[in-house]
Amino acid sequence: MKLVQNFLTKNDCYKSGRKITVKGLMLHSVGCSQPNASVFVKNWNRSGLEACVHGFIDGNTGTVYQTLPWNHRGWHAGGAANNTHIGVEMCEPACIKYTGGATFTCSDTATAKAVAKRTYEAAVELFASLCKQYNLDPMKDGVIISHKEGCVRGVASNHGDPEHLWNQLGTGYTMNGFRKAVQAAMKGGGVTTTPSTGNAATGGTGATVKPYLVRVTVSDLYIRKGPGTNYGKNGFIAPGVYTIVAESAGAGATKWGKLKSGAGWISLDYAKTV
Ligand SMILES: [Zn+2]
Repeated sequence: MKLVQNFLTKNDCYKSGRKITVKGLMLHSVGCSQPNASVFVKNWNRSGLEACVHGFIDGNTGTVYQTLPWNHRGWHAGGAANNTHIGVEMCEPACIKYTGGATFTCSDTATAKAVAKRTYEAAVELFASLCKQYNLDPMKDGVIISHKEGCVRGVASNHGDPEHLWNQLGTGYTMNGFRKAVQAAMKGGGVTTTPSTGNAATGGTGATVKPYLVRVTVSDLYIRKGPGTNYGKNGFIAPGVYTIVAESAGAGATKWGKLKSGAGWISLDYAKTV
């Protein structure tokens, strides 16, 4: 999975700066024929918009664009789920045409299905990684829900996504199947997704992020050979500024960061973003 951080710093939701305790994940689909996540990232980075989500999954590449810090309160559900759930949008095929409400026609079913498959598989990987990071059980009632299910539960507005897309394209995807796929992906099996670029890290090597700088001020922080205190030590890191190129969940820290130098991983709990 390739993840690019591109926070919507000009969006009023970002500026309001409220945090949540993450209790679940809500899956959305954008509801318009636009496969390019970068278009949303660009258009939503402004004030005066009453919507903001945590991420968009690109329909052509499967790349995840993270647009809010995960524990930021988003404006994605139109209901109480904003207080508890991370919201992620899957982009939709260019070859569909909405004819009213959630109904659409499709000029190229094969291409549309390929886009739906790509975003579905990337969403499975992303949700598996977030479940690990926030210690969530994907099969527990109400943890992973679609916008549509959120509406039925009374915690989201009256939308039908993303099931409306899956059903009309005849993909066979369901939210129950999605939750099972997330559970399987957490165990390290069940999902095979080809990285969209050669440098995308997968599995135990964490998710590639846009490189950023952190400052380490303590002198007793270990470098680990992998993302977790269960990995071997590689000496102490000297206080200073370092570049982080990948992130991962792992034992003993809220989040682990991979050092650009290749020396290993450090707990980001002891590093401040510069
Ligand atoms: Zn939605």
